Amino acid sequence: MHLIVQKYGGTSVANPDRIANVANRVAKGWRDGNKMVVVLSAMAGETDRLIKLARELSEDPDPRELDVLLATGEQVTVSLFSMFLRSQGVPATSLLSHQARIYTDRAYGRARIIGIDTARVKEELKKGRIVTVAGFQGVDEVGNITTLGRGGSDTTAVAIAAALKADLCEIYTDVDGVYTTDPRLHPKARKLARITYDEMLEMSSLGAKVLEIRSVGFAKRYAVPLAVRSSFSDQPGTLVTVEDEEMEDVPVSGVALSRNDSRVTITRVPDRPGIAVRLFRPVADANIVVDMIIQNTSIDGYTDLTFTVHRGDLKKTLEIVGPVAREIGAEQVLNDENIAKISIVGVGMKNNAGVAARMFEALSGENINILMISTSEIKISCVIEDKYGELAVRVLHDTFGLETPPPKKK
Ligand code: ASP
Ligand code: MG
Repeated sequence: MHLIVQKYGGTSVANPDRIANVANRVAKGWRDGNKMVVVLSAMAGETDRLIKLARELSEDPDPRELDVLLATGEQVTVSLFSMFLRSQGVPATSLLSHQARIYTDRAYGRARIIGIDTARVKEELKKGRIVTVAGFQGVDEVGNITTLGRGGSDTTAVAIAAALKADLCEIYTDVDGVYTTDPRLHPKARKLARITYDEMLEMSSLGAKVLEIRSVGFAKRYAVPLAVRSSFSDQPGTLVTVEDEEMEDVPVSGVALSRNDSRVTITRVPDRPGIAVRLFRPVADANIVVDMIIQNTSIDGYTDLTFTVHRGDLKKTLEIVGPVAREIGAEQVLNDENIAKISIVGVGMKNNAGVAARMFEALSGENINILMISTSEIKISCVIEDKYGELAVRVLHDTFGLETPPPKKK
């Protein structure tokens, strides 16, 4: 007997038929003797619909009231789900966040889970029931309803799995696992049997939308065994887990392309202490995340500074750094939106020399110019011209042989 937490995303509960379909799946796990906790998202499109509805009455909806509204989406699915199971003679109880005691801070719209009191969930499980928990929502210390941010049901599931010390947390979605790259970009993309938490974190931050990034961080911190599977098939999916030796032998596990960035260059910046902070402090204070930063070696006391920000933040960034650049006597501020970031990710990079060189060689073989480079222990990213994005994905995927699974050693 196992304690299993399963999470079903919006597309998996998009209509009554699909709800019945996944409920039957859960019932099967229960009949096999497992304890089942099910976290559900709202029906596909429902959260968007509610946000639109709110905007019809208020341009800038009050955050507290908006969360009260948005939390209803998940209330609908957990009740329908449990209702159906009961009609089939399977005992199930739905719990909203205050009943499942999922406590958060009061940051409406992006609340953080600070603790879960599992007593009620455990009590229901003990009675032999399937427990369905509304994802995405929480409750603050005085009982206000909060939400965790878009895609937050993944985090609900992982947090409950961690709190219950579940044997497995399965995230059911409309794709059947994590791939070496986006299959829409390269037909040779291969589903990974396993990926490490750290690799998954890098892939998620690079825009692989399979798992919400916060849930991966949570899973890593509490070592929650996590599986990504499709609710439309019986495929085993991808296991997100701690690294082992076999995984460390593979230098590159995935290739990711992100098209969300733009580049800002400030030329002829005086090279003296305090300049970087004057430029980047106001950017940070405006809550804009700066990704890569490159400062050239200075010549005659001047240097060029280049950095990337999210495309949606470009306008605001320019408004902020423009005046500062003038104040400090820099020459000009340039920007470029036609860029893409191509990255290779793999825990095995730590033990394999020459990975970066192979990447640069592959790109140069296609005459792709590298505009910026950044690295972490398990990732190398290059900024290139946007038009080469898909070509770069295919070339790197092929160069590192990602279409063939790594040999198993015994
Ligand atoms: N329903 C919420 C959303 O659409 C939460 C979730 O689906 O995970 O963002
Ligand atoms: Mg969703």
